[in-house]
Amino acid sequence: MTTHFSDRISDVPRSFIREILKVAIDPAVISFAGGLPNRDFFPVAALQEATHRVFETAGKEALQYANSEGDIVLREMIAQRYRQKKGLEVKVENILITSGSQQGLDLMGKILLNEGDPVAIEEPGYLGAIQAFSVYRARFHPVPVSEEGMDTEALAKMLKKEKPKLLYVVPNFQNPSGITYPDANRDEVAGVLQGSDTLLIEDDPYGELRFTGKHQRSFAQRLPEQTVMLGSFSKVVAPGLRIGWIVAPDAIMDKLIVAKQATDLHTQYFGQRILRQFFLENDLDTHIATILKVYDRQRLAMLRSMEAYFPKEVKCTRPEGGMFLWMTLPQGLSAMSLFHRAIEEKVAFVPGDPFYTHRKEVNTLRLNFSCVDETGIDTGMARLGAAVKKELL
Ligand code: PMP
Repeated sequence: MTTHFSDRISDVPRSFIREILKVAIDPAVISFAGGLPNRDFFPVAALQEATHRVFETAGKEALQYANSEGDIVLREMIAQRYRQKKGLEVKVENILITSGSQQGLDLMGKILLNEGDPVAIEEPGYLGAIQAFSVYRARFHPVPVSEEGMDTEALAKMLKKEKPKLLYVVPNFQNPSGITYPDANRDEVAGVLQGSDTLLIEDDPYGELRFTGKHQRSFAQRLPEQTVMLGSFSKVVAPGLRIGWIVAPDAIMDKLIVAKQATDLHTQYFGQRILRQFFLENDLDTHIATILKVYDRQRLAMLRSMEAYFPKEVKCTRPEGGMFLWMTLPQGLSAMSLFHRAIEEKVAFVPGDPFYTHRKEVNTLRLNFSCVDETGIDTGMARLGAAVKKELL
């Protein structure tokens, strides 16, 4: 029998990161390749307590089908956090609980994209968004980002010519580069978008992981009618819960709810009740503060060992939060070729290639600092520095 797959799925490559991570499974390999939060800081005992309490007080309810929009109390908690942390007024009706923010990307693709529709995306950009929109056969138009934020000249030119349906951005501690758009750059990006029919998707799973510097205002404060925000508990509580959310204006929310119903009826309700209970019994800020202390130490260890073990021509971003650094090798050096040498040296990272829609054999790479302790970072970076020096010979 021959199975004739849809064009939609046939063209989408398997997750490159999952493929290369198979090589990094050897326990002797120090891996900076994953994009995972540090499991040592998952609030296991507190979630266990919360689970008991849900079973004790609302077991039957928590195990029943629930509404598509998500648990009302959890959505109120999310609205309240926007108010407290960002000074943003978000109505509960404009929040939809999703199965991680990854599902938010899928639902946005589902309601907006026809085959061949233009989508603007950061270059480099989040691999999972490239994958999600590829399923809907988007035509990508990359816009360069750097430590200064988005290249607004390139954005304006592309917007005029291509009229993309959406622009997808991760303006805080971006995956993969760790960069944050400065407030002034956000003003410029918003200025370019204003008056166009391009919807902005602001994906912010790392925003609460700020170690230093000051909070930059959301696009939702600048373009409230044109911005859809994606949020997630994956990086601040635990990704295995698969709970995230979308904030969208009324007309978009209507369509999202239909798409959500067609996809999975609703996000796992039991998990939502556990999380809601967890928030009632624990202070999220205290928990986040613990994570921040550790990640910041690890970030600084990585930057220090960069200076100690790498040739000066190798450049690196200095993120103020999040989980990633972005390294640029000297011109002509391929990150993919370095990857193979690095594996021989027993250290792994993600070559930049999968984060681009229009470039190959790039000289950039992503390093994760959240999962390896300071000693491991020092050893791993010494190995990687040695691999770079060998590639340069
Ligand atoms: N967006 C970005 C930018 C991410 O880095 C991730 C996780 N790697 C996600 C979305 C998806 O996160 P989740 O589905 O766990 O909320």
